[in-house]
Amino acid sequence: MGIKQDHYRVHWLTGQFCDPDRESIYRQSIQQRLSNEYSLALSIAAFAYGIFVLSDYFLLGPVPGFFLLLALRLAVVSACLLIAVKIRRGRGRRGVSGWYALPLWLIATGIILIVPLRPESYSTQITAAVVAALAFYLLIPNRLTVVTLVSLYLTLGFLTALVVFTNANVVDVIRTAILLFIANVVGFFTLLRLERLQRTQFALLRDERDQNQALHEEITKGKLLEEQLRMSAERDALTKLNNRGHFMKLAGKMLQRAQSGQTPFSLFMIDVDHFKRINDTCGHCHGDKVLAEIAEVCEVSLRPTDVIGRFGGEEFIVALPDTSLDDAQRVAERLKKEVSNLSLPGEMGTQGPSVTIGVAASNADGKNLESLIKQADQLLYIGKRAGRNQVVVGRDGDGRGAGEAY
Ligand code: GH3
Ligand code: MG
Ligand code: MG
Repeated sequence: MGIKQDHYRVHWLTGQFCDPDRESIYRQSIQQRLSNEYSLALSIAAFAYGIFVLSDYFLLGPVPGFFLLLALRLAVVSACLLIAVKIRRGRGRRGVSGWYALPLWLIATGIILIVPLRPESYSTQITAAVVAALAFYLLIPNRLTVVTLVSLYLTLGFLTALVVFTNANVVDVIRTAILLFIANVVGFFTLLRLERLQRTQFALLRDERDQNQALHEEITKGKLLEEQLRMSAERDALTKLNNRGHFMKLAGKMLQRAQSGQTPFSLFMIDVDHFKRINDTCGHCHGDKVLAEIAEVCEVSLRPTDVIGRFGGEEFIVALPDTSLDDAQRVAERLKKEVSNLSLPGEMGTQGPSVTIGVAASNADGKNLESLIKQADQLLYIGKRAGRNQVVVGRDGDGRGAGEAY
């Protein structure tokens, strides 16, 4: 990257970006500041041009020539002030830039026209012309080409007026020409340097902003990827429930907390009944849909603090903290009922899917998660053997053949 990119190249003579689009973006970005600066510069120039009406009066007195000069100064001053106001009001709007050059031409013409109107004081006017040429370059920002043209117009016009309307000798004219030439050169190169510096700074800032944006996008992408990776490491793709590994991690911590806090903890092992039949009758895709729907029922009907996982193919597992065996049994019954309310395709009859649930609870004996799961699994198979579609609760602490079916 870096600012040497083509569209950031600055022209050696105009001080502008070679790429017109880039130049227009740059101009838009400084439009408001420029409008303010320019209208201030114009007001100052109008004041400076107008104030010399006093020297006109002291030099000429109330003669017709003075009134002509007065009219000229008034015309230039009022035009400049009008345009200054217009530019300030219309800042940021397109079309305002067309007004920028006009006051410069007016002031230059005004300065040239003073020569024939006050030919005897030409030596003081030389100073005014040199100062004006320099001021154009230094006070008018971002308009190097126009400013150069206006300054050259002022230089040539003033020299011509000097030769035609005054009695200046050759040495005076040459001296004035050299002074004006130096003012133009100094002004031109100062403004050129400024223009180049400002654009380089702009390019650097843009470059930095682009790089920051790219970095930001990379970070966002990275975070998204990280989130996706985390999801695929922790979640089951079909049901979006915790996968077995993640469930074990979460439920293990929960059980430890329950045991150290001596609070109740229950566990469900849920198996969909005759799921193979659903697959065989309605197709594997529909089987997938049923599994996703059962997962959703679990999520909706259980508490946010309960942790649900997909344990295997059509088996789900739930850890219920702060839940006694009796409460867990009621929850399991409700869940079984809600699953049966799901609808299956017509080929399966009017009955919804049924589940068998084994419910185990952690006792004071400090059973670990694996043995609790084993107990719930054994209770589940008791329910399967007893005809399915039921909740089996382990009342004796180990569930081996002693579950109660409901
Ligand atoms: P039971 O009532 O004894 O549990 O009978 P079952 O048919 O539900 O049990 P079995 O273990 O015989 O069959 C389970 C079926 O679940 C077999 C397998 O193809 C299917 N299965 C496992 N995982 C998925 C899955 O992700 N999607 C679908 N559609 N089927 C699955
Ligand atoms: Mg099974
Ligand atoms: Mg099954």
